Formats: sequence, C-alpha cells, structure tokens
Amino acid sequence: VSTSPEISPVSCADPFDPLSLSCAEALARILAALTPVAGHECVALRAAFGRILASDVASAIDVPLATNSAVDGYAVRVADLGDAGMQLKIAGIALAGAPFHTRLAPGHCVRVMTGAVMPEGTDTVVMQEHAEVGDGRIRVTRGYRRGDNVRAAGEDLRRGQVALPAGRRLNAAELGLLASLGIGEVSVRRRLRVAFFSTGDELRSIGEPLAEGQVYDSNRYTLYGMLSALGAEVIDMGVVRDRPEAVRAAFEEAAACADVLITSGGVSVGEADYVRDALREIGQIEFWKVAMKPGRPFAFGRVRDAVFFGLPGNPVAVMVTFYQFVAPALRRLAGEARIEPLTVQARCTSRLNKKPGRTEYQRGVLEWDRDGALVVSRTGPQGSGILRSMTEANCFIVLAPERGPVEPGAIVEVQPFFGLV
Ligand code: AMP
Ligand code: MG
Repeated sequence: VSTSPEISPVSCADPFDPLSLSCAEALARILAALTPVAGHECVALRAAFGRILASDVASAIDVPLATNSAVDGYAVRVADLGDAGMQLKIAGIALAGAPFHTRLAPGHCVRVMTGAVMPEGTDTVVMQEHAEVGDGRIRVTRGYRRGDNVRAAGEDLRRGQVALPAGRRLNAAELGLLASLGIGEVSVRRRLRVAFFSTGDELRSIGEPLAEGQVYDSNRYTLYGMLSALGAEVIDMGVVRDRPEAVRAAFEEAAACADVLITSGGVSVGEADYVRDALREIGQIEFWKVAMKPGRPFAFGRVRDAVFFGLPGNPVAVMVTFYQFVAPALRRLAGEARIEPLTVQARCTSRLNKKPGRTEYQRGVLEWDRDGALVVSRTGPQGSGILRSMTEANCFIVLAPERGPVEPGAIVEVQPFFGLV
C-alpha cells in the first residue's frame, strides 16, 4: 500500500505578512498542511528498529505470565513469620523455569531464585540477605509485609492491554518490549522517500579541485546524515547548476519518485528567479521570510505531489531550518506521534550577541557545573557558514525574538541535540 503525502493548498489570500512569519507560526502552518503517509508494511522485529508503528500493539499475554520472585531468597507464607525467631523448614527449591510443584505446608519455605514461579501457598519472598540458614531451616531477621519481593502476574501488562500505541518510533526499549510479548513481526508505516539536491555554480564535489570562490558541497552530507537518522530513504540527486532547464528537470525527476524534496541554496530574495518561475509553474510554493537567525529565506509547498522544502544555502542555516521545520514535518508525514523536541532552561555562562526581532538558534555546549546546575556556553563564532559551531555543540540556545543581548548568568532556553538529532 502506498499513497502520496497530502498537503493542503496554500491560499494567496492568507492575511499574514510573509515578511514577519514567526518560527512558531511557520511550524504550525507546515504541520497543519501535512497528513501522514498511509502506506504500511509488516516487518520482522529487528527490521522494525527505528520505524514508526502503524497500529496499536496489544499484549496477547499477561506480563509477567505468572506471579514470580523478584529476588533470590525464600518464598514464605507471611503469616508464618508472625513470631520473632520463628524458623521455617526448607521444603525444596524453585528456579526460573523450574517450578516447585508441591503445595507448601505451614511452617515451611522454598528456596527461590529470581524469576521463579511462586510456589503454591506462598505469598512473600524473604531476601537471602535477611535469612540465617542452618540445618535445613531459615530464621528470618527482618519484618516482612505480604507481597514483598513478589512480581504479580499481569502487573506490568494485562492480556489485551495496549503495550505500544500507533505512532511510536520503535527504539531499543520498544523492540525489547515487543520481544517480551513474543511478537516477532509488526506493522510499520512505510519509509518516507526524500530526494534532495544542492544548487549553486560555486559548488564542487569531493575529489574536484577548488578554484577561487568555489566551495565543496557540504549540505548534501549534512542532509544525508539528518535524513538517515530519521529513518528516511535518501535519494541524493547531486548538485544542480544554476540553469533553468537543469533546475526544472531536477524538480520533475524528484517529484516523480519522492514524497519529499529538499533543496539548499538559491532561495534568497531576488536571486535565481527562474527557480521561482519553475516552482510556480509545477507546484505551489510559498517563499517565507521566517523571523529567525540563521535561516531566514525558506520555501515551503508542493512540487506536483511531493512536499517541498527550499532551505537556505548556508551550511548552519540548513541544519537549523532542518531541525526546526523539516524534521518535525518528516516525523508528522512518517506518522510519528511525538514530535515535540525537549527544551530545558540553563544558566548561560557566555555573553551572547543578540538583536531584538528574530528567534536565534545559537550553538551551545550544555553541561553540569560543579554545583550540579545546568549551564550552557556558546561555541565560538556563530556565522551561518561556520559548520564547526555545529560539530562542537550539543544543543541550540534558543533566544526569543524580543530578547536583546544576553549577559553571563542569564537563564536561557536550550534544545539539547540528544533526542532532537
Ligand atoms: P545561497 O543561499 O545560494 O545564496 O547560498 C548562501 C551561501 O551558502 C553561499 O556562500 C553558498 O556558497 C553557500 N552554499 C550554498 N549551498 C551550499 C552547499 N551545498 N554546501 C556548502 N555551502 C553552500
Ligand atoms: Mg546559490
């Protein structure tokens, strides 16, 4: 099963001012225009790693299946522990996978190992550290309450209960949980096919010599990494020269095979108007000036049936706009339920240049100080072409539009890369 992602047409009559679109508004508009792909497939558990669950998975069994011991020790009837110094006779042993089958008589206990099914007639497990053993008997040195150190059947999950909801990304814990339910195959949403290319006559590929004014194309590599981390099927279309026919042909080719097309470069105002012309002919594109730094020029819309993102050319701007807009959009298209990134507050130890007007995504290093408080400092120079600021960072420092310069000691909002990337 496979259908194209859908995007609602963008109306020219929208009352907003495109010159002052806020980040929150841009993201809201993008998400509102997208619905998840409908296609799904059944895959084996290991192959499901990183994929998005297409439907709820209910447990076919109680977890745990039987009431069992949570520790190594002695299964007892708590009522037998009444008298201090009372001794219990060891009637036998139960191991995980090797139960003790005889019903326990009063005044007896059973040696149990973690995971062993609770012998009939017992209700509590005395930890071995709290039992003095001698002559085939134990003496319990502590008080116990009924049910201590016992895992009840179904306490984790009841048979029929939803173990994992549709829309969950299947990471290590989810694979383990599914395995614990004996589930070897799951229905997942199909992978998104994402095509991308770079534009710019100054771009060279690795292996080619650089002449003056030329740069190596790095955006296709950051995009490859960011898309792969999201589990997308990546279609790298290379560098497309700044020529109308070349750009147009690339758009057609991408739209024919991909759910999503991402370009970088060439979306600045006044530049490469034929890109706009081509896009306007075969798609519905809004060119937005999002009030953000880096990454102001940004295009969103549709090329034929493919969702289109036109990212700025500058390498850091590509990454910032990707993580703020494209990643949530791809998560939504892929059917993922949780797309909100984690944000935390931290004390900033650097002075940050900031002018009021735009949301800034400065690159920072988040860590604990000696007192155990979260602190963040910026990575060196913050130019939107300085990719090293991303490699050295582990978070974005997000500064709201109204904010001015940040003095050391001020509290700032931080988006850790962990979970975001
Ligand atoms: P543009 O948005 O096309 O005006 O590009 C802005 C800046 O980003 C220019 O300095 C470009 O050389 C640079 N740039 C554009 N595309 C890439 C790319 N794929 N890799 C590295 N730098 C790029
Ligand atoms: Mg360019």
